[in-house]
Amino acid sequence: MNRKFYFIALMHVALFLLCVLNAFYHAHYAIGLLIAILWIVLSAFFYRWLKHYHKTITLNQILDKKVKAQTQKLDHLNGELQRYNKKLSNVIDGSNVGYWDWELGTDKYYVNERWLEMLKLQRSSVTNTIKDLLNRLHPIDKSHIMPKITQAIDEDVHFNVEYRLMDKNGEYVWIEASGAVIGRDKEGNALRLSGTHQDISKRKSLERIRNKNREYLNILFDNNPNIIVVSNAHEILSTNHQFFRYFPEFSSIKEFKKHYRCICDLFEFVKDSHFLHSSKANNWISEAIANPDSKVLIRYKENQYYFKVIASLVKFDGELLYIVTFTDITQQQLLQKKLEEISTIDELTAIYNRRHFNTIFKEEYAKAKEMQTSLSFVMMDLDNFKLYNDNYGHDKGDIVLQSVAKAFKASLKRSGDYVFRLGGEEFGLLFRNIDYAHSIEYANSMRHNVAQLNLEHLLNKPYDTVTLSLGLCYVDFASDEVELKDIYHYADQALYESKSNGRNVVSSWRLD
Ligand code: GH3
Ligand code: MG
Ligand code: MG
Repeated sequence: MNRKFYFIALMHVALFLLCVLNAFYHAHYAIGLLIAILWIVLSAFFYRWLKHYHKTITLNQILDKKVKAQTQKLDHLNGELQRYNKKLSNVIDGSNVGYWDWELGTDKYYVNERWLEMLKLQRSSVTNTIKDLLNRLHPIDKSHIMPKITQAIDEDVHFNVEYRLMDKNGEYVWIEASGAVIGRDKEGNALRLSGTHQDISKRKSLERIRNKNREYLNILFDNNPNIIVVSNAHEILSTNHQFFRYFPEFSSIKEFKKHYRCICDLFEFVKDSHFLHSSKANNWISEAIANPDSKVLIRYKENQYYFKVIASLVKFDGELLYIVTFTDITQQQLLQKKLEEISTIDELTAIYNRRHFNTIFKEEYAKAKEMQTSLSFVMMDLDNFKLYNDNYGHDKGDIVLQSVAKAFKASLKRSGDYVFRLGGEEFGLLFRNIDYAHSIEYANSMRHNVAQLNLEHLLNKPYDTVTLSLGLCYVDFASDEVELKDIYHYADQALYESKSNGRNVVSSWRLD
């Protein structure tokens, strides 16, 4: 460009000088001046044109350079892409994955060697059309494939579907197909779909075995006669049918959870260390694990159930779960209660018997000692009862024993006070935490209440009614310690004193 520019400029100057010299040579000064002015004006235009020309030329050069660089870059990328594609097809061919490519317009369906291998087919035995696939598809699977492919086309998303294809021998092979649209025309219509096929027969057969096992487990679970609850550290996860037989109001665990935070909300308090009654979530499960003899009492609506609770901690799918079994022991428990009652109750008078006295006496003694309270034991014996039997007969004597026992029971002041038939016409009164003076008063109220019955006993002089003599032994463990047998002994001593002192009185020993 530069050379061209200088040549035009030089020609220009030369032409100017020629014109000016010619004008002056012929002494045409005015014409010479006019030419000079004209030349200056023309030069100005020429200069502007030159400037513009120069600028355009420079811009073209820059663009040329850039295009060249971009072309080189694209060539390089193209090479890379080709190398990458080659690698990719090598990887696909070398992997366990079958590759397919479906041209929608022509229904051409290209597959790679691995795809053929999966179905034990030879290249020569396929037509490379979509029919190759459709003819081998399991009839049951046909229906769920098309919606997935349609969705992949319409929404331009990747699809993933499992189905069975028949191999050369007529056996079905489970395939996992995935793919997507890889080409569309200007209107956006799908032209090609492409993707992979993978043989998942092994996984499917494992799944089948697992599902079968799960089915068996569910049958066992639901047919178990016990309630079985599966829980994590926070809540019930599942349970079996038995649960809903006991709690028919609920149709699912979800429903149950709307009303109860935890099954332990239904546990009733029972004064027995084997019974669980923790209302704190899951503490009860830990307790049940620690104590294999755990039981619960559940009162639900009008019913009352006793369950034996066995809990264990298991690891399932990496998660720690509690399996809790509730075995209904209501019948045994009620029977046991009945037996216990029978063994602790006196048949004639229906108050506690001597056997129960032996248990309770020890328990109350231990409590008084531990809590440093007082313990009062009163021995009560009917006066001249042999004479009553002799005079009125043994049967009437029995009725008197029943009436007296009833009066004793009615005279008990607090729920923790006890009255026992110790044997024959001898009774015992046991209570804690009542001071000495009030203990004597308590014993006297018993004596008084029996006298109030006004049962005729004409041989019991001078009273002519049934009376009793009482011997009280009072111990305060806050200030002294006395042995159990001594308490009994001193009460007996006090009773002996009452008998000696004319009967129908209370005598007492204070041991503190
Ligand atoms: P004391 O005032 O000294 O206690 O004289 P007691 O006659 O009550 O004393 P004793 O121990 O000599 O007699 C007790 C009598 O109680 C003897 C027995 O006939 C009577 N007895 C004991 N058990 C029963 C019973 O189950 N039914 C009847 N009806 N009498 C009984
Ligand atoms: Mg007597
Ligand atoms: Mg007696």
